[in-house]
Amino acid sequence: MNILLVYPEFPDTFWSFKHALHFIQKRASSPPLGLATIAAILPSDWHKRLVDMNTRPLQERDLAWADMVWVSAMVVQRPSAREAIQRAKAAGKRVVAGGPLFTGEHQDFPEVDHFILNEGELTLPPFLADLAAGAPRRVYASSDYADMAQTPVPAWELVEMRHYDSMSIQYSRGCPFNCDFCNVTALLGHRPRLKSARQIIAELDRLYELGWRRNVFFVDDNFIGNRKALKEDILPALIAWRQGKRGCNFITEASINLADDPELMSLMTQAGFISVFVGIETPEEESLAECHKSQNRNRDLVASVKRMQRAGLQVMGGFIVGFDSDTPSTFQRQIAFIQESGIVTAMVGLLQAPYGTKLYQRMEAENRLLTEMSGDNADGSTNIIPTMDPETLKAGYREIMTRIYSPRLFYDRVREFLREYQPAVQSVNLAWREVLAFLRSMWWIGVMSEARREYWRLFFETLFKAPEKFALAITFSIYGYHFSAVNRKNGLI
Ligand code: SF4
Repeated sequence: MNILLVYPEFPDTFWSFKHALHFIQKRASSPPLGLATIAAILPSDWHKRLVDMNTRPLQERDLAWADMVWVSAMVVQRPSAREAIQRAKAAGKRVVAGGPLFTGEHQDFPEVDHFILNEGELTLPPFLADLAAGAPRRVYASSDYADMAQTPVPAWELVEMRHYDSMSIQYSRGCPFNCDFCNVTALLGHRPRLKSARQIIAELDRLYELGWRRNVFFVDDNFIGNRKALKEDILPALIAWRQGKRGCNFITEASINLADDPELMSLMTQAGFISVFVGIETPEEESLAECHKSQNRNRDLVASVKRMQRAGLQVMGGFIVGFDSDTPSTFQRQIAFIQESGIVTAMVGLLQAPYGTKLYQRMEAENRLLTEMSGDNADGSTNIIPTMDPETLKAGYREIMTRIYSPRLFYDRVREFLREYQPAVQSVNLAWREVLAFLRSMWWIGVMSEARREYWRLFFETLFKAPEKFALAITFSIYGYHFSAVNRKNGLI
């Protein structure tokens, strides 16, 4: 049996980092972890080929080779997923689909033959058994949660690793918190389910054995959901694993209470974590109460961010406007907060209600749902009717994006961050790609972009005053170039 695994293309979004990847000659940020994991569960005597449409086009000869085409996608990949499915059907192939897009919207894809929904560890084996028996059903779904101790090492040998900026590992699923707009808990539950240290080290060993020496993204929605297991099991194992290894710094996502635990932050940086994405959402207490973001309430959010930065973690932040409690003054407060915090990578979006969330249910009950979600968190779109006048909300959102990604405010933020940041490890691996990226930045940002004045100011300031942070300053300049390009494409600046 020949199985073609297809990962649809991402549009040009905030998180795609497409414009930054050109600088280091990479084609995509991270590989399709879900498909690589599914491939490892499929029978070993099946032939598998993986096409990530973010790194190369899906070709007719790929489809001709396949007996079945398996597509996995997130919501933001919807248009490309549709195209891939149509092409596979036109080529006469049986199509199997899974992943968050189809778990939420499988009824919108009548042409798909089989759906493997929810967690593949649970829904794939019964499909394979029915297929072997000659009577596969159309939909396989489960409301149970998979035991991650059974999740195999992904089939990384199918992935052309050289095209990616980072590799991915998933250590846990589920989150103890209850933010009403988040579908993580709706899909994966509240009790964090974990892989063992043995599994994580086996995954890292495999990546290292295949020659990987760059960043590894722990794609958990909340890496610190079970702090005891991290402190006693995983982080000590990671610290031991990294001894004598080159490259391989770690990035992850965590809730803001990480800032309350100096021991955990210290262990994380010792283990090689350099960066963490945190859902800050809003400095407005009432809006935090409205969305049940209890962990962010009654705390000095700026001080929390700075504690993480001083501990050696770069903080990327997610921000939302458009809560019912927001007022027209919220926009200025968001701008001031983002600048003060020194969060360089600030992803700001309008409030959206993903399918399956408490917010979705509330919006449905209040008759406030609009069309389907774009799945892009920072394109200024929403699928709900806000309480604020929509034009005021749009103008306020545009104001935030225009201001925080203007060259002056963006570079001010980089400076604010570099002042606070105490790197625990060398966070930029200097290989020939990075040297090339540096040279390109001098031309594309230092000469050709509207940020050239700020670029050279930061360049010389950092070079002379904090040379140990120079590589990071150039990296952020390249990020700024990407964010400006995406905002321009979205008509936001
Ligand atoms: S902390 Fe993050 S992952 Fe957890 S429920 Fe809130 S938004 Fe979702």
